[in-house]
Amino acid sequence: IKPVPSDIDIASAAQPLPIKSIANSVGLLEEEIDFYGKYKAKVSLEVVERLKDVENGNYVVVTGINPTPLGEGKSTTTIGLCQALGAHLGKKTFACIRQPSQGPTFGIKGGAAGGGYSQVIPMEEFNLHMTGDIHAITAANNLLAAAIDTRVLHESTQTDAQLWKRLCPEAKDGSRKFAPIMLRRLKKLGIDKTEPNELTQEEISRFVRLDIDPSRITWNRVLDTNDRFLRGISVGQGKEEQRFERKTNFDISVASEIMAVLALCTSLHDMRERLGRMVIGPSRSGEPITADDLGVGGAITVLMRDAIMPTLMQTLEGTPVLVHAGPFANIAHGNSSIIADQIALKLAGKEGYVVTEAGFGADIGAEKFFDIKCRSSGLKPNCAVIVATVRALKMHGGGPKVVAGTPLDKAYTDENLELLGKGTDNLAHHIKNLKKFGVGVVVAINKFHTDTDAEVKLLVERSLAAGANSAVMSDHWAEGGNGALQLAHAVEKACKETNKENFKYLYPLDKSIKEKIETIAKEIYGADGVEYLPEAEEKIKLYNSQGFDKLPICMAKTHLSLSHDSERKGVPTGFTLPIRDVKISAGAGFIYPIVGTIASIPGLPTRPCFFEIDIDTKSGKIIGLS
Ligand code: ADP
Repeated sequence: IKPVPSDIDIASAAQPLPIKSIANSVGLLEEEIDFYGKYKAKVSLEVVERLKDVENGNYVVVTGINPTPLGEGKSTTTIGLCQALGAHLGKKTFACIRQPSQGPTFGIKGGAAGGGYSQVIPMEEFNLHMTGDIHAITAANNLLAAAIDTRVLHESTQTDAQLWKRLCPEAKDGSRKFAPIMLRRLKKLGIDKTEPNELTQEEISRFVRLDIDPSRITWNRVLDTNDRFLRGISVGQGKEEQRFERKTNFDISVASEIMAVLALCTSLHDMRERLGRMVIGPSRSGEPITADDLGVGGAITVLMRDAIMPTLMQTLEGTPVLVHAGPFANIAHGNSSIIADQIALKLAGKEGYVVTEAGFGADIGAEKFFDIKCRSSGLKPNCAVIVATVRALKMHGGGPKVVAGTPLDKAYTDENLELLGKGTDNLAHHIKNLKKFGVGVVVAINKFHTDTDAEVKLLVERSLAAGANSAVMSDHWAEGGNGALQLAHAVEKACKETNKENFKYLYPLDKSIKEKIETIAKEIYGADGVEYLPEAEEKIKLYNSQGFDKLPICMAKTHLSLSHDSERKGVPTGFTLPIRDVKISAGAGFIYPIVGTIASIPGLPTRPCFFEIDIDTKSGKIIGLS
């Protein structure tokens, strides 16, 4: 239909297929699926074991130029490309995407199901609670938070003997062995004993006292709402806890390390180990204290038992989508789960395609996809699709600011080859960066109706000159899969032309923390160098001494610029990247330097998306979700 109706109108006019028929069509067995209503099903990890001898499909990552308020349409392109490959070219094709956070859905951005005629449906189920994975993360995260403050309280109000009696009632009965979680702590302390009564007084003291330094606890509570008033809070206001009052923060649930663990783990066993290894802060003597030290690693994993299974949904054209995990793209790595990709690559098989999307621009999302996600999984991608729009590149070329609620400036709606020409530098920079990883690069020009032929021609020429395998215009937003056929052919060709064995990481893990940070800053962002504030220097020293220096780096930087300054569009030069602080996600398995200031729980604008959202109480239909 022209003009193209709103996202929710298109999505709710479509009749989804029963999810059972999607599951059958991709070769899933009945015992490998758990239904969540009519249109969603959880998929068991056992698929990977059953199909272990099947060769993996082609592995494609969708990324973008540095985002602008004009929007680039990465999710829309991911879905449009899959519809073209799957529903029109007959290739077994999976879209593997992130579950959106409810913060942006009700805040500024809206949902993330794609748009126009390239969407995941039912989009309201996708954008709201889906199968509850984010709620599980919230529950698990906050159980650990409760365990920390409570342990500090108990340790300061009890003697070693009292703690031993309560923490380890096994000791009363000589015949009882340690519980498994206790054995984990003993192992960490290097105490090679299995019977509680064998421990010496000195060993008991070390065992029962974590001696957490309350001023250096790094584990925050989480909530999946853009509630800026939780950025700084004080806990311990109750009568009995007042002596333990401390200042702390909330983060948005998708910023929880547990989300990053879910996205990076490769099996239930791996998830259990990673959750147990998560560090909540140091002891007073500088030892890292983990979830397993607090005895809660197993319980957290139990809360995450169902969340580890990806959710099968479908596109508007009935092709399969696996939705799984959604780590915050700035303080975490911003990519959907390894498990979903592993399952999809097996189900797709050698001739098939798995298209996954990396958050933010290629300087953040794609770099982390290659250096963190692919390194963790061992999977090798064939090709990267970089999404650009004429309008957004004009902004990188110096186009005027966009003011919400006012009509778009003429610079964006009329032909302007000069602005576009300047703006293509940003795209060219990302193309050159992507080539460093040894993958094929296809530029997808996401078509807006104001784009002119001369503008598209210029964009294609500049992309090819920068080294892209091909650059094509794609009209999937208005036309669905049919509008993305050229893009689909370009991706097929790039996958064939690329030898996966040429894929390489940007840096080896055995370099020092500083060398790794500097490589990303210079090679990807184009910085002259890096400067470290005292807090960052101190943390790097601490992580070196704790033996965490071999982890990959997950930069927490603005997505709006290649530099640390969100106002600097295009390709900024002559800057030194400031590292304010350095933090760790030891369970997820990365170090994250904080570049400038990064909010880990967003706020709401004056007119958030929730103003548009309501329900028709007669039909139960949701209105205004975008
Ligand atoms: P991203 O993944 O880059 O954040 P999305 O794919 O979620 O962007 O798209 C953001 C919004 O822009 C959606 O509401 C979508 O409908 C709209 N959009 C995307 N592509 C187009 C297009 N070509 N024309 C008009 N609107 C579009």
